[in-house]
Amino acid sequence: MKAFSPARFRAQFPALADAGVYLDSAATALKPTAVIEASRQFYSLSAGNVHRSQFAEAQQLTGRYEAGRAAVARLLNAPESESVIWTRGTTEAINMVAQCWLRPRLQPGDNIIVSEAEHHANLVPWLMVAQQTGATVVKLPIGPDRLPALEQLPALLNDRTRLLALGQMSNVTGGCPDLARAITLAHATGVKVMVDGAQGVVHCPPDVQQLDIDFYAFSGHKLYGPTGIGVLYGKRELLEEMTPWLGGGKMIVRVSFDGFDTQPLPWRLEAGTPNVAGVIGLSAALEWLQDIDLTEAENYSRGLATLAEAALSSRPGFRSFRCQDSSLLAFDFDGIHHSDLVTLLAESGVALRAGQHCAQPLLAALGVSGTLRASFAPYNTRQDVDALVNAIDRALEILGD
Ligand code: PMP
Repeated sequence: MKAFSPARFRAQFPALADAGVYLDSAATALKPTAVIEASRQFYSLSAGNVHRSQFAEAQQLTGRYEAGRAAVARLLNAPESESVIWTRGTTEAINMVAQCWLRPRLQPGDNIIVSEAEHHANLVPWLMVAQQTGATVVKLPIGPDRLPALEQLPALLNDRTRLLALGQMSNVTGGCPDLARAITLAHATGVKVMVDGAQGVVHCPPDVQQLDIDFYAFSGHKLYGPTGIGVLYGKRELLEEMTPWLGGGKMIVRVSFDGFDTQPLPWRLEAGTPNVAGVIGLSAALEWLQDIDLTEAENYSRGLATLAEAALSSRPGFRSFRCQDSSLLAFDFDGIHHSDLVTLLAESGVALRAGQHCAQPLLAALGVSGTLRASFAPYNTRQDVDALVNAIDRALEILGD
């Protein structure tokens, strides 16, 4: 049975054994013992590569590697494992869609609609492919609620639109647009949708079939897994249409100096020795997560962000950029530079991020040069909230002098 106990959850994270306060899970999540142990066992006990050698250990490893793919398919309710392509992370997955699927389909004068709330990973690849082809990138602005203004989408979609790129959850505001509505609107004009799930997946893994998502990307390291492993999910017919961008071992069935024939999905899009350790670590994270009540865990993290926001709102000059009841709290203080503040917080042992969060257009739309961002995870505590507030009080005192 799934359950969530804050204390039991926290006890799984060795990195929290020291005295520091970690409020940067939106940048990367800490790793539970299950993941650390699976990675250690892989490097100390495993022998062989995957999909290559005939000896028993290598065959067994291949089985575990492909079982990891099936576990991701179950997480997203993908119809089949072949729709799950291993990548280095979200950034690589989105670039793959831009270069392997969209680029051959773009003509000068075509357009790609991208929301203003996007991380650079879901903007720059579209700007690059537009530059390469003579297409344009059209902005879907945010509204007063800091969410992409979906009511403006119908007016932007036209017969030259080739893709809509939208994040499941902003890494700054924590805002989650209504994906179902955006996808229905885009599909009504025959436009495919790329959803960036880097930030959203740990909070609410989507049902890609129910939402009818065309492409979905996420990174293992934000889901308690290792760095360097991520996923591109795509509908089979779209992945089949993709031109592989990496050629090499294991993506072909036949090769001669006259040419080559590619493997079926998913291997045709995965040339070279893959990140086997990453897959093993991510699989361990997914297995470990199976016992956790993610909804309860999410409510708990949001509660901490609400407490922090309520406490800080009584401090002069505090401004919050938090959307809805997110577990992310982006904020600043009028007249105080975010870099000065975050440096003093680091001195107090409170780890969080300040700056533009790889979302310069969003920051420009919010009218700020940078913010601090405290991201709360289920391993954080009320003491962490107190530590943040106390460290901010101390910093404000120093900076006010
Ligand atoms: N999109 C969003 C919303 C993100 O928060 C991030 C990571 N900060 C990315 C994309 C990129 O993920 P990665 O660096 O793991 O490829």
